[in-house]
Formats: sequence, C-alpha cells, structure tokens
Amino acid sequence: MDRNAYWKFVKKTREPEAVEKSVAYLAEHLGKFLRPGERVLICFPYREKGSLSDLFEQAILRCHAEPVVWSDLLWKTLLRQAFVNRVTAIIGPPLILLGLMKLKRHNETPLFIRKVIVSGYPAPEWMIDGLVQGFDCEVGGCFGLEHSGIVAGFACGKSWGVHLWDEMYGVDIVDDTGKKLPEGMQGQVVLYPKCAPELRLPIGDTAVLTTEPCPCGSKAPRLTNLCYGGLMDSDLDALANHLMSWTSILDCHVKKGEFGLELEVICFQGEKLPQLPTAARMIIRPWDPATDRPLMHASSLKIPEMM
Ligand SMILES: [Zn+2]
Repeated sequence: MDRNAYWKFVKKTREPEAVEKSVAYLAEHLGKFLRPGERVLICFPYREKGSLSDLFEQAILRCHAEPVVWSDLLWKTLLRQAFVNRVTAIIGPPLILLGLMKLKRHNETPLFIRKVIVSGYPAPEWMIDGLVQGFDCEVGGCFGLEHSGIVAGFACGKSWGVHLWDEMYGVDIVDDTGKKLPEGMQGQVVLYPKCAPELRLPIGDTAVLTTEPCPCGSKAPRLTNLCYGGLMDSDLDALANHLMSWTSILDCHVKKGEFGLELEVICFQGEKLPQLPTAARMIIRPWDPATDRPLMHASSLKIPEMM
C-alpha cells in the first residue's frame, strides 16, 4: 500500500464535513440494534480526532447509548472497564476483542456481551467464530480501516456480505495487474473516495462486487465472498494468526529481524501452548497485568504533521 496515497485518503476523510457524514452513517447503522442507555465499550488503541474510535464515540452518543472508552490501553483495564460498567456491546479491532474474550475466559469474569462490532471487517473466519463462541453473542462488522477513520460500509444484517457506503465510497475489483474486472468476478478490492477517485487504496482483501439488490432489502452495492489478506507477509501473518487462535496466548509479536524470526508471546500462566517454531530471538512470558498493553499498537501509524 502506498503510504502517501493512504495518508492523503485519510486526510480527506478527516475534513469536518466528511466526519459529520461518517458519524451520521455509523449512528444510522448502530441505531438498528443499540438500546437507549446501553453501555458500549470502545476498544481502539488509536483514537485521535477523526479516527474510527472518535467516530464511533460520537455515533453511540447520537443513539442515546453510553460510550465507555478504554482509558489507558492496559489489557487489565479493558477487562475491568467491561465488567465494572456492565457493558453489553463492544466495538474494536478483532484481535483486541479476541484478547478481551481470552481475558474474560482466563479470569472467569462474568461479562454479558450481546453484540460485537468488529472494525476492519472482513476479518478471518476463525476470529469471527472465536468471538461468537467466546462471548455467545452476535457479531457484526464495519468495513473500515482501523487507524484511519475510513468507514466505507457495514456488514449486511442477514448475509455475510458488506454493504458499501455508496454515497461516499466506490470500489473497483481489479486483477493482479490492476486491470478492472467485470462485475461478478473475484479480485483485489480497491477503495476510493467518490470526491477524489484518484486516491486509490488497495485494501489487501479480495471479493466479488455485486449491484443486485440484497435479500435484506438494501440496494447498496455489495461485496460478497470476502477473503481476508493478501498484501501482508503471508508466512509471518499465518504464524501470528495461528498463535493468536490459541486461547492460551493473549498477544504475540512476530517479525523478521536481522538474524531471522523474532517472536514474543504473552501467555496465560499454566495453560497449554502450541508448538512454537525455532526462532533467532524468542520471548515467552506470562501476562503481566500491571504493564501489558497490546503489542501490535504501533506508533508508526500516526499521521505525519506536514500532511
Ligand atoms: Zn443485505
């Protein structure tokens, strides 16, 4: 993904008029299931003004529900805030929500979550399944980019497709050379704002675009057969995914260093771990409630000042 194009795209979505439209769009969708007074935990590590976190907070208030924002980004606090506030809905990136599910399970904390909204939808199927089973809840998704404030659609309430936000965003499905494919064919998803179609963002997932009306009644263009990933380092990604699919592992960080694979694994003491690959550098340690925050919280994704 071209970083420069990405930040130009993000900047566009953070203009006041675009923010207002995004909040109204989210409120319309959240309003379909949020109950007045219900407490909703917002679990994003990134929450500058105009970010997804900020947009969701404003949209929840507009639905007369009560947003609870993760205060200090400690895993421990996430669990405590969910419990103390008796939240019944949670919104955030899938791996953070899975982390909360694992903490709940390990600590045997009674949480009664009835609705989970995953950002960065589509997420891999095992993540969605883990959330559905771990919380015994309904899972929906917003088609957005986590650190950006880009909200380009919402998961269909009935099928597993995504309805695009037609007024603001367009999608092209392209082949490996970047050539646009006809409707109905599977290919790479390229997103663009309708007000600036030259800002093209390959999001790294593949899908089929259809303009046929959805069985749910919506006439918005729809992405179906969504397949996650494609632009990341597939080996590292697959390893991280495999590790994170274990409930005994709260968090992990996988990268290729100078001498080979580097691995950091935060686990729950006394629980069975998967077989780990040999690595040039390996840290395996139990969760430290006093200090541990999500490892993937990268500071490198801040918007550069000059933009
Ligand atoms: Zn639908």
